Amino acid sequence: MTELVNFGAPSTIPQNLLSGVLSVPDMFLYMYSVIDLLGTPMKQDRYRDLISVNAFAATKPYATEASVGMYDEYLAKTFAIASYLTSAKSFQTFLEYGAYCPTPLYWALIGDSFNKFLGPLKSKLESLGVKINFNYQAHTLQLNQDGNISGVCFERCKGFDPSLSEFTWRQVRRDFLGGQAPELELVNIEGPLILAIPHEALSKLLSAAVLNRNPQLGECEKLVSVPMASIHLHLNRRFSQRLGAMHAVLPPEPVVLLNSNFKLSFVSNSSLWTGSTNTYLNIVASDSRPLGNLSAPSGFTADRVWNQQPSTLSIDHPMTTLDHILHEFRRFVPFEQNEIEIELLELDRNSGRELFINDVGSWKWRPESQTKIRNLFLAGDFCKNDIDVVCLEGAVVSGLQAAELVRQRDGIGAPIRIVAPKRHPHSTFWPLKILLAPYAAGAKVWSFCNELIESRNR
Ligand SMILES: Cc1cc2nc3c(=O)[nH]c(=O)nc-3n(C[C@H](O)[C@H](O)[C@H](O)COP(=O)(O)OP(=O)(O)OC[C@H]3O[C@@H](n4cnc5c(N)ncnc54)[C@H](O)[C@@H]3O)c2cc1C
Repeated sequence: MTELVNFGAPSTIPQNLLSGVLSVPDMFLYMYSVIDLLGTPMKQDRYRDLISVNAFAATKPYATEASVGMYDEYLAKTFAIASYLTSAKSFQTFLEYGAYCPTPLYWALIGDSFNKFLGPLKSKLESLGVKINFNYQAHTLQLNQDGNISGVCFERCKGFDPSLSEFTWRQVRRDFLGGQAPELELVNIEGPLILAIPHEALSKLLSAAVLNRNPQLGECEKLVSVPMASIHLHLNRRFSQRLGAMHAVLPPEPVVLLNSNFKLSFVSNSSLWTGSTNTYLNIVASDSRPLGNLSAPSGFTADRVWNQQPSTLSIDHPMTTLDHILHEFRRFVPFEQNEIEIELLELDRNSGRELFINDVGSWKWRPESQTKIRNLFLAGDFCKNDIDVVCLEGAVVSGLQAAELVRQRDGIGAPIRIVAPKRHPHSTFWPLKILLAPYAAGAKVWSFCNELIESRNR
């Protein structure tokens, strides 16, 4: 199998170089280009650094088509964005953190996120007197005469999850709840308000009154997010037995499927979670937009509670979004349709929870946690923060930033210290860059000769 492992750790360089994913010279040139990027001082606010990863890599004299294309395999699957759109500076920051601390490659929960994370967090908050209301959507912000937020109007949407539904709440009310009228509830705000909602939802709350107080918030309209569909695929005992007979094991690490359509990756939750018996895979299609106009179908989404029409699978001759993703996935992990635990199969298009993308120039338009409205603070992965690249860590840091601003404003408690991850200075990579430069020149010639031989043999 052609396989790359923990890309970034020095100990895995020989294995990755000889992996067969790219020819040795092309893989060397890709790795050299990463060192080059790590050794190049760049700043978010410098105009000449507003370039994409592709522009950085492709314009180097040592670049080859294959070595530059390798960035796409990485970026499109991890961050749902092509290398020609990704900000070189943001990706550099991500690489810097990884280069300083390459292992472990990732952290993952060893159980489902409700039981291992959200449940305990909710209990802790409730024990501290926090009241949590689920299924309320912020609808409008109210400002008082001082220009502070005085209230938030919420719409109650009982049993509805906008990110898991194929419908809007308005459609659900109209088509499945007998035209039920919207239930609005005004919550008065006396102290500070932290809004931790995606930038598109924030944009919808930006009324003229809010924008006139803080015009910069209007720049959120320039931010871009894309949907990443995910599938919960449970396979039965027959599949596990077949896997066992082949002496094959599904690894507990996230697996990126090279050269897959819809940019697939998956995590075998059952290999990672304690106490799992059958196979449970979570498949992510980072490029699910081409399938956006196809039916999900709703019988295999969270919408089955509203829309109980029977849905069928047709993996061999794909008709729906789900069929297409499973059809493609089966090229890499072969399974039979009768090995699927059909009642547990679910597609989440994550439509209300699109992934914010770090495209070139976006840093400037990202809001700070502090707004010009004195009692309004923002959190979310799209807010400016030291982590920069979209991820859970960035979302958490932005939340800590907002909490610290509230603490400072109200003068309560001890300062919230945010520990920034360490990174090497750019100059650390200069000796390596200079030392390896002649080898990069040699690899370029080697790759060129390979191409020449291939084109003659064609
Ligand atoms: C399929 C997929 C896989 C991912 N994998 C990883 C990974 O492996 N590692 C990683 O670090 N990151 C991953 N991410 C990214 C990660 O999930 C996000 O960066 C992170 O969740 C952002 O957190 P957030 O709090 O900013 O926003 P969210 O987690 O999106 O939270 C925003 C919340 O606001 C709610 N909301 C929306 N509108 C309103 C409204 N009007 N009123 C009230 N509430 C509202 C939403 O329902 C949501 O609960 C993945 C994302 C996706 C889609």
